[in-house]
Amino acid sequence: MNQYDVAIIGSGPGGYVAAIRCAQLGMKTAIIEKYSTLGGTCLNVGCIPSKALLDSSHHYHDAVKHFEEHGIEIPGEVKVNLEKMIARKQSVVEQTSSGVKFLMDKNKIDVYEGLGSFADATHIDINKNDGSTEQIEAKNIIIATGSKPSTLPFIEIDKERIITSTEALKLKEIPKHLVVIGGGVIGLELGQVYRRLGSEVTVVEFMDRIIPTMDADLSKELNKVLKKQGFKINASHKVKEVTRDGDKVIVKADDKKGKEVVFEADYCLVSVGRRPYTDGLKADKAGVKLNERGQVEVNDHLQTNVSNIYAIGDVVKGAMLAHKAEEEGVMVAEILAGQKPHIDYNLIPGVVYTWPEVAAVGKTEAELKEAGVKYKAGKFPMRALGRARASMDIDGFVKILADAETDEVLGVHMVGARVADLIAEAVTAMEFRASAEDISRMSHAHPTYAEAVKEAALMATDNRPLHV
Ligand SMILES: Cc1cc2nc3c(=O)[nH]c(=O)nc-3n(C[C@H](O)[C@H](O)[C@H](O)COP(=O)(O)OP(=O)(O)OC[C@H]3O[C@@H](n4cnc5c(N)ncnc54)[C@H](O)[C@@H]3O)c2cc1C
Repeated sequence: MNQYDVAIIGSGPGGYVAAIRCAQLGMKTAIIEKYSTLGGTCLNVGCIPSKALLDSSHHYHDAVKHFEEHGIEIPGEVKVNLEKMIARKQSVVEQTSSGVKFLMDKNKIDVYEGLGSFADATHIDINKNDGSTEQIEAKNIIIATGSKPSTLPFIEIDKERIITSTEALKLKEIPKHLVVIGGGVIGLELGQVYRRLGSEVTVVEFMDRIIPTMDADLSKELNKVLKKQGFKINASHKVKEVTRDGDKVIVKADDKKGKEVVFEADYCLVSVGRRPYTDGLKADKAGVKLNERGQVEVNDHLQTNVSNIYAIGDVVKGAMLAHKAEEEGVMVAEILAGQKPHIDYNLIPGVVYTWPEVAAVGKTEAELKEAGVKYKAGKFPMRALGRARASMDIDGFVKILADAETDEVLGVHMVGARVADLIAEAVTAMEFRASAEDISRMSHAHPTYAEAVKEAALMATDNRPLHV
């Protein structure tokens, strides 16, 4: 029987990064993945393919809607070849996944292809995809089994027309009308892909606003921009029935006054969140406890109730984000090596990759109010930037929230072109506990979108922006 210092179940961004860090720290490491491709949700059916389709559809949208005003004329009609677009996405996925395999080999990590399940707290049975079985032994085990799309109890996902994000990434035709249930990150990103390709897109959201966990100003701005792009957004609508009639999908919801609203479409994307995934893991055989939400229960060191078993990523509490899973993978590896790592969960940024993008880190205004923290806000519009006018990406703003007395930056919230990248400046500043004045005194290259961060900082410090 092969023996390891550490075995990791699941090769998503949590699992494979944990494996690399364990190997770097000198541990004999194995990783078990039930699919034949490594990389988990993120690489195969999540972050990477969704961004590939967002990028392709963005090019198409620009060609159709914006090239002319830039003085670029295309003789003839610009057309979408969906099959080719999906194939390009798939080749990006394959390249990325084989990159992970390369990293496993480079770091001398043993990869097992098959379903891993606990035999006990130190042994894992692997039901291999070739039909054989093998048991391995490990001193420490990291559960990194991730998540799957969740649905509502009364919705039957048929994977044809009533679909999850996984199917939405490989449709064979452009929907005429796509109803998106759930106005969160995944629904809006994939909704935007198909809106750009010509679908009518209707979003039905239970809460009173889209991206409801983010700062209310971000929801408001994104709502405004998406409506301009032709999205139909129905907040405060409770979906109660989804049925299929041939090629039609009928979605029934109650609006906030309890009045029934019926949406008829050819496709319905159910994007109401994701559930932690532990099917087939047999966690009970190792004595590992799950909580009432199905998550593996862990303490602040990501250790389960069984001392040599840890869990990370989407299968545990906290934001379901690839970079959160990665940080946790590194943290557990370093704990196993006897180090004392730390993650500041308040500084894990959240991003929506629509265009304009949305990004945030730290506290929202509502959270600060609820905690009774006195704060100042500086909010600078993108349209006041030369760079934004040059590219015609004038929607959005940067908002900085700083402590009213100390001026320490407590939250940064942005909508605009490339803010997914800009948010890194805010994370860095907050990691070093910068004040708004610190940011405002740093030189920001001109002309860039980053100047909005400096200007918002000037406004938060003592309301003296230079360009509005
Ligand atoms: C459409 C979409 C877009 C997204 N976009 C973003 C984004 O832009 N940015 C971002 O940060 N996050 C994004 N996410 C979320 C991100 O994909 C997840 O947060 C991330 O993948 C979680 O990583 P993980 O390692 O915890 O689990 P996963 O990536 O889910 O990986 C778990 C792996 O474990 C394997 N596994 C499970 N059980 C077993 C078992 N018993 N034996 C062997 N293998 C097993 C699974 O097959 C899977 O490969 C997106 C998700 C979706 C669906």
